[in-house]
Amino acid sequence: MTAKTTVTTATTNARLVEVFSAIQGEGLNVGTRQIFIRFALCDLRCHFCDSSNTWNAPTTCRIERYPGLRDFEVYSNPVTLSMLVEWVERQNIPQLHDSISLTGGEPLLHASFLVEFLPQVRSATKLPIYLETGGHRSEQLAMVLPYLDSVGMDFKLESVSGEKRLVEHARFLQLCYDSQVEVFVKIIVSSSTDVEELKQAAQIVADINPSIPIFLQPVTPLISPTHAEKEIMAPEPDQVLVWQAMMKRIVKHVRVVPQTHKMLNQL
Ligand code: SF4
Repeated sequence: MTAKTTVTTATTNARLVEVFSAIQGEGLNVGTRQIFIRFALCDLRCHFCDSSNTWNAPTTCRIERYPGLRDFEVYSNPVTLSMLVEWVERQNIPQLHDSISLTGGEPLLHASFLVEFLPQVRSATKLPIYLETGGHRSEQLAMVLPYLDSVGMDFKLESVSGEKRLVEHARFLQLCYDSQVEVFVKIIVSSSTDVEELKQAAQIVADINPSIPIFLQPVTPLISPTHAEKEIMAPEPDQVLVWQAMMKRIVKHVRVVPQTHKMLNQL
């Protein structure tokens, strides 16, 4: 049975924000070209969220017709599995993309959908699947791990995000590591970062494996979507140098990479 025949029988739906082709601006895959599938909904409320438009399910989503042209069509939510496979296939012109990025929002809130969708989209495109996640839903991760090639896991610092998920992060990262999927950890840092929290995060990663790469991502300054009166500020240059040096005494790989897609005026 071909992938196309399979998808026509599926009934599962998902709530999307958008599908488009762009340059990945964060973490281990920085600079690569990806097909982004941005899912709606998130159960966290990070102070620095730059995707707060995903928090609630929008009534419509926008789908790029040709990769990179920003020629969006608008569709009603929810969308069917067969529609999404078709839209991703349409983006997948030869030799352009390195992988498919599942992003949001929190893509794992759509785990049941992903379990059906991922084998079909992989079969249709032959592209690796990369998951960007808040790193706090290990039960849902376990459902989709067999279909993933790599995971970028956020580690939330309470001093920066307002979210504290230490136990969940440890469990989540252990699951990724045990499955041998490629995994890296991303930590957003700002001028309010608590150095003790950073140290604790590095130790949790090291206890699983000190070779797991950590990316410190200085926040792109913004007005907090959760506290409108509060401006989230990037850390000072010397703070970042001190934090990286401290963490490198605990884990092997600590890279500092800002959101490069914003510098390039990408989506
Ligand atoms: S997990 Fe991501 S999408 Fe959800 S609130 Fe935090 S930054 Fe925003």
